Amino acid sequence: MTEWFIGIDLGGTLIRGIRTDGEGNKAARAQCHTLPEEGAEAVLKRMVDIINEVCAGVEMDSVAGIGVGAPGPIDHEGRIHNPPNLPGWPADLSITGALGKLFQPPSFIGNDANLAAMGEHRFGSGRGVDDLIYVTVSTGIGGGIISGGRLLVGGQGYAAEVGHQVLLPGGPICGCGKAGHLEALASGTAIAREARAALESGPTSLILEMAGTVENISAKTVGLAAMEGDPFALELVNRAAMYIGLGLVNLIHILEPSRILIGGGVSKMGDILLDPVRKTVNEQIMSPVYEGIEILPASLGEDVGLLGAVSLVLSELQ
Ligand SMILES: [Zn+2]
Repeated sequence: MTEWFIGIDLGGTLIRGIRTDGEGNKAARAQCHTLPEEGAEAVLKRMVDIINEVCAGVEMDSVAGIGVGAPGPIDHEGRIHNPPNLPGWPADLSITGALGKLFQPPSFIGNDANLAAMGEHRFGSGRGVDDLIYVTVSTGIGGGIISGGRLLVGGQGYAAEVGHQVLLPGGPICGCGKAGHLEALASGTAIAREARAALESGPTSLILEMAGTVENISAKTVGLAAMEGDPFALELVNRAAMYIGLGLVNLIHILEPSRILIGGGVSKMGDILLDPVRKTVNEQIMSPVYEGIEILPASLGEDVGLLGAVSLVLSELQ
């Protein structure tokens, strides 16, 4: 009898679910809108519906466990604290506690970026490496750290907020409210903000031509214009890449990973982003002991959170 694993990705927009075997082969998937404005109880009910949907036709006895990836800091009791994409989420609600009352298989929860690191480690570009840093660059910047083969979770479970390193004291205000964090300097939100501010009155750029209006400018338009060789777009990408590179230098000196993986929407720019990241790292690391650390694209794409949740179950039950 196949043993099944359930992975759930609780996002601000979508709740997604998969059922896989122990090798991560997907046997079923389902998704629905999160609609966080309807409140936590309604969201939880939709999550239960997704679990039931991916388990349709299989005996619950054959499900080894349920893994949930969720945004924001999550404590060891399964409570999410002020998740950025789930406004008004109750601080005392334990997701694993609620699922434990409804489902017989054990459930586990983790921060989505931490679980993404576990997913890449087990199923993606991080296979075969036990010291790994995963960084996701999208609307925000998050990360997960595998050290000695284990996920670094910290004392309360809040570790690896790599996007909230201070890189520019007094710099732009971050999503977390503090100034000069990496996320405020190099996330998709930051790249788009910089482009809009400059193009209100400034240089002519293909970015504006592609977006139509200043309001329509996104990090994606900046990336597309950069790929076409637009000098101003390249300048914006290079600046974001420099800050990402500096953030990685800090992490390399502290953690000495063997490999660093970059994922998230902004990373779809590919080498146009990664080459200047590598350049900054090579210029700023202490030589020669830290040379040769690979900086590669993550490989699991949109499913990284789901496979990460499955990885969490696998590692908890091992
Ligand atoms: Zn911050």
